[in-house]
Amino acid sequence: SKTLRLILGDQLSLTLPILESAPENAVIALCEVGEEGRYVPHHPQKIAMMLAAMRHFAATLRQRGFQVHYSTLDDTDNTQQLIPEAERVAQLHGCDEIQVTLPGEWRLAEAIESRRKSRVGPRWRVLEDTRFFCSRQRFAQWMEGRKRPRMEDFYRMMRRHTGMLMEADAPVGGQWNFDHDNRLPIDDAPPPPSAPRHRQDTLTREVLALVATHFDDHFGTLAGFNWPVTRRQALADLRHFITHALPCFGHYQDAISDKSPYLFHSRLSAALNIGLLLPDEVCKAAENAWWRGAAPLNAVEGFIRQILGWREYVRGIYWHHMPDYKRDNRLAAERGLPACYWNGDTDLRCLKRAIEMTHDNAYAHHIQRLMITGNFALLCDVRPAALCDWYLAVYADACEWVELPNTLGMVLHADGGYLGSKPYCASGKYIDRMSDHCTQCRYDPRQSVGDDACPFNALYWRFLERHADPLADNPRMRVIYGTLNKMSTEKRRALREQAETFLDTLTWTRPYGQGQHA
Ligand code: FAD
Ligand code: SF4
Repeated sequence: SKTLRLILGDQLSLTLPILESAPENAVIALCEVGEEGRYVPHHPQKIAMMLAAMRHFAATLRQRGFQVHYSTLDDTDNTQQLIPEAERVAQLHGCDEIQVTLPGEWRLAEAIESRRKSRVGPRWRVLEDTRFFCSRQRFAQWMEGRKRPRMEDFYRMMRRHTGMLMEADAPVGGQWNFDHDNRLPIDDAPPPPSAPRHRQDTLTREVLALVATHFDDHFGTLAGFNWPVTRRQALADLRHFITHALPCFGHYQDAISDKSPYLFHSRLSAALNIGLLLPDEVCKAAENAWWRGAAPLNAVEGFIRQILGWREYVRGIYWHHMPDYKRDNRLAAERGLPACYWNGDTDLRCLKRAIEMTHDNAYAHHIQRLMITGNFALLCDVRPAALCDWYLAVYADACEWVELPNTLGMVLHADGGYLGSKPYCASGKYIDRMSDHCTQCRYDPRQSVGDDACPFNALYWRFLERHADPLADNPRMRVIYGTLNKMSTEKRRALREQAETFLDTLTWTRPYGQGQHA
């Protein structure tokens, strides 16, 4: 029996069991296939980062003595579909078994599982992905008997389990969470650091040229490409973040800037998701910064919570509830995506800047995703599938296991409040408080009706009115429903009309494959 070890594009870690257990001359396959690049129109920077990282990783594996088969997108005999391509390569090398690490997407995991069960072709064996703090089994155990799992409870369990930021059984600093220190608006922020620029070797330049040729019809530009494509570059990004941005990460975690796309965020999600960095080493680097007094606790705890808490939690929820989770649409939202998500053609300054930054960098930070593009889609009744396709396509870090719960659950509240206890809907006043967009906008965040009124305001009240059942009973929303209920009938009618008139001005796209994308 001979085994082919298949490494997927987001599994570029030498520490995975599939590689750690591999004998010296093992046959390893990496396959670039058109199918994976096109099922949503991925941002060219996302495709380039993954292909360049795969090619560099293949070179590392060869240096270690492994026999590597690498299918490039341009190979004439490439079948362009992952399972057939892996089986073709297995046959070429006389392998009767294919080992693969569990994919990060239910769709592919399911396709491999049904191929495995069919007992046609080589035997398929799926190995666990060990790059996470919490295995799927541990998560399932934690979920037992919980009707409403909460991230905060999960996070505390994980802090205890890993000993991260713990002294004996207590959280360091005497608190689990320092969020109340972490809501400073943009006006007070010092200038953010600029990201280190990575050198582009011949291999990376070749990939950039290839992507420019094959995917030039996709949303996004390759100009300014600066993603890490080797472990070395990813480690340089990590060091840079810990030294220059982490100390301010906490305070300005929720701020939004008209100019700076990254502020004090780490930009590490893409490297983490494709395996160039491991969550454990990233969290430890942050924890060490606190121990040696190089970063304050509110920043370090806030950062570690995103990875040890949110990232692990959404992954657990994803695997626990797929495939049903993807079908949820509890607020019965039925519109397509506004066309401006693809062409940036909008006069809402905050929305325009979030889309432009996404187009230019394949990146927007969490609050832009949640409170601007996400909030706007929520208030406009965008169908979960339409918004999910967009987020999955446009960000360098987008993988379904993390994108779907964030979009469908956190942003659209389409799971009925399973993931987040209340919708993150917000008016223009919130955006004005946290950002410096509004002073450059043609709308006024203090007005709700009239030509200059910020569209977020009327949309916000319309949303609350439309979804009073079930949201008015939510204890966390009682105050806001109290305000709505005190409004006169005329004011409510005026707000409703303002919102509907605005919605009528938008152009809507149909789902990918059925409609027009700019
Ligand atoms: P930082 O702000 O520096 O945070 C540090 C790390 O914490 C990130 O690198 C990331 O690994 C993790 N993290 C932070 N927030 C979350 C979160 N809510 N869920 C899971 N992990 C988190 N993240 C992805 O990695 N891939 C996605 O496809 C993705 N889609 C999203 C879609 C929507 C609608 C929203 C609201 C969020 C999404 N996120 C996604 C989470 C988050 O926005 C990004 O991880 C973050 O913006 C990446 O930038 P950063 O590395 O600078 O993060
Ligand atoms: Fe956005 Fe409204 Fe502010 Fe304009 S006024 S930037 S639309 S929040």
